[in-house]
Amino acid sequence: MENSTLNKTLDYIDRIHEILLQRYDIQPKALVRTFGCQQNVSDSEYIKGMLEKMGYDLTDDAGEAELIIYNTCAVREHAEDRAFGNIGALKPYKEKRPELIIAMCGCMVSQPAVAERIKKSYPYVNIAFGTNMLEKFPQMLYEYLRTRKRIVDTSGAHENALVEGLPRRRDNTLRAWLPIMYGCNNFCTYCVVPLVRGRERSRDYRAVVAEAEELVASGAKDITLLGQNVNSYGKGNGDGVFFPDILRMINDIKGDFRIRFMTSHPKDCSDELLRAMSECKKVAGHLHLPLQSGSSRILKAMNRHYTREEYLRLVDKARRLMPDISLTSDIIVGFPGEEYEDFLQTVDIIKRVRFSMLFTFIYSKRGNTPAARMEDRISDEEKSRWFEELLHEQETISDEIMESFKGREVRVLCEGVKPKSGLLYGRADNNMSVTFSGDKSLIGEFVNVKIDDFNHTVLKGGLVN
Ligand code: SAH
Ligand code: SF4
Repeated sequence: MENSTLNKTLDYIDRIHEILLQRYDIQPKALVRTFGCQQNVSDSEYIKGMLEKMGYDLTDDAGEAELIIYNTCAVREHAEDRAFGNIGALKPYKEKRPELIIAMCGCMVSQPAVAERIKKSYPYVNIAFGTNMLEKFPQMLYEYLRTRKRIVDTSGAHENALVEGLPRRRDNTLRAWLPIMYGCNNFCTYCVVPLVRGRERSRDYRAVVAEAEELVASGAKDITLLGQNVNSYGKGNGDGVFFPDILRMINDIKGDFRIRFMTSHPKDCSDELLRAMSECKKVAGHLHLPLQSGSSRILKAMNRHYTREEYLRLVDKARRLMPDISLTSDIIVGFPGEEYEDFLQTVDIIKRVRFSMLFTFIYSKRGNTPAARMEDRISDEEKSRWFEELLHEQETISDEIMESFKGREVRVLCEGVKPKSGLLYGRADNNMSVTFSGDKSLIGEFVNVKIDDFNHTVLKGGLVN
């Protein structure tokens, strides 16, 4: 079944290739723009791979593109507004060059209300399709090239298909994304992800390990395993291989490289996982463990399935096994029903845990989620004040953590040269950004850097021989 879907997709890619050869004297260009999370960045790499195979050359310049595709995010209202704003800005291009093809895909389009809005208010969007239907894009583009009739199709958004073998064009060969699962079953009450990305589906572990082997063989030095909740990897596969097993299998691949993963849900962060992390030398010393709120009452309303005490115990356990581990987290401020006392509990827990970095968001109401129907009596101004207070607290903590690195040595994957300063940059095992001076021949190598200073969230230092 899967193979025939892949073959069909590849067949449409070939047919488009033929059409492009007939239509264009010089190679046509395509622009892919990505909004949102790493999963979207990874999905866009498949879109780029398919476009290249069709015969498009990739560009960043909308003015020279024959096809523009926006891969959108729906997690917060702001992300949607931005995408619509950007799509709106394409109208003059389309007026000037009516043959330009504009496509929209991703999580926004998977929402029926948004698909309707595109149909009604954005007539110059020619193709629109939801997440989890990347393999259908070539067929849609082929139909459009033939008929010039617009296609808005979100039918496959929740389908179970996991098509292996789609062409992929990686943005970065040193640091690679490796999706291990799609969708989410958690239904946190504020979150649109389960509604747009559908139910959890894990890739076969053999495909995951084979891809990791290929990546290492082709020079990848930092591999991030992706999923909305990687800790529940493998639950529906029935082969007895779960997330800690995957970590161990990839860790066993020969070569000098680093393994990262995102995202871990605290409720599924098992002892086996922490043990595997501590025993696998290639697994980075960093855990992104979204907390969302420090108030057990709010966590319950969010349907997160853990209390503040359980979260704190988990952090203790992780630190006992891995004393140097760097912890980062996501926080939502102003969830419906949250009072200042609840918020203070969040401030208290971040002071106790001392995350090296926080991703903080003001609650954004998402259509069709349970939280959208909950009473929310706190004003936007008040929420913004809380938000600033949290940022301020975290800044102090981050600064203290950064300060504590002075004089210490960290292992860094050298990724490139900063254009302005000419300094080399990269990430330490704990995921912190580091800059240092050195020769550009070090790009792609792991080096040791002694830290002597920092600027905001970037550590600075010098090479150690
Ligand atoms: N699956 C991952 C990440 C999902 S989205 C996880 O559970 O950790 C990334 C972050 O966006 C979430 O952790 C949450 O902090 C934030 N987020 C999700 N929905 C939101 C909403 N409606 N308003 C504000 N922030 C939200
Ligand atoms: Fe959204 Fe919760 Fe799933 Fe993360 S775990 S994607 S926050 S529902």
